[in-house]
Amino acid sequence: MLPNYDVCAAKFDEYGLGLTPEMYRKFDIYADFLVEYNHNVNLTAITEPEQILIKHFIDSVLMLKYAEIPDNSAIIDVGTGAGFPSVPLKIYNDTLKITLLDSLNKRINFLQQLCEKLEIEAEFIHGRAEDFSKMPEYREKFDVSCARAVANMALLSELCIPFVKVGGMFVAMKGPNEDISLGNNAVSLLGGSVSRETNYQLEDEQRKIVIVNKISQTPTKYPRNSSQIKKKTL
Ligand code: SAM
Repeated sequence: MLPNYDVCAAKFDEYGLGLTPEMYRKFDIYADFLVEYNHNVNLTAITEPEQILIKHFIDSVLMLKYAEIPDNSAIIDVGTGAGFPSVPLKIYNDTLKITLLDSLNKRINFLQQLCEKLEIEAEFIHGRAEDFSKMPEYREKFDVSCARAVANMALLSELCIPFVKVGGMFVAMKGPNEDISLGNNAVSLLGGSVSRETNYQLEDEQRKIVIVNKISQTPTKYPRNSSQIKKKTL
């Protein structure tokens, strides 16, 4: 169970974010179900309620603040795991259309049950990003692709940028230690351009958000297949 509404709202406020009672109700259901499900299926190492609030919920919602995602955007969350960042984004802004993609079916099963409990609409994809972004119904169909804690910038770009329409953006949520410029070659080969990198503090941790604008179509030869991607990044 999360701390009470006033405590949670004060925490959101510290990060310049509002919190309505209805959002709080949903985050509380989310935290309970995450901890309960995590007893049987490995979803997260973070299980203490206040830490879930900060390191999962607030961190995810900060993407809206730093990336300035417009209302009604179609977002695909690549390697969403237990729903981060996109389920908190949807709780925070119900106009967003979220697609949750993960290669592990046990996580997709959790997300289907979670979204039913939360009464939020989402599309679920069990599979690998590099397979689905080749399909015409998903390729260059999203306003935003995003990912948190999935892979290094070069690899992540190949997984995420092919999903984004020209004019849309790819948002990478990162820890402090990665040299983002190592992904520059991949970003440009895939039709992107890094527009900004924002560093922020989450409690005692440094985090960063990298925004890549999609400026031209991704060449059809990308993404390469899984074994080529793993062997050598672009
Ligand atoms: N984004 C979540 C978060 O921030 O808590 C989960 C991060 S978890 C460390 C990485 C997730 O990415 C795992 O659930 C894994 O199954 C998924 N994943 C890794 N590579 C993938 C790929 N190529 N396609 C789809 N999912 C992938």
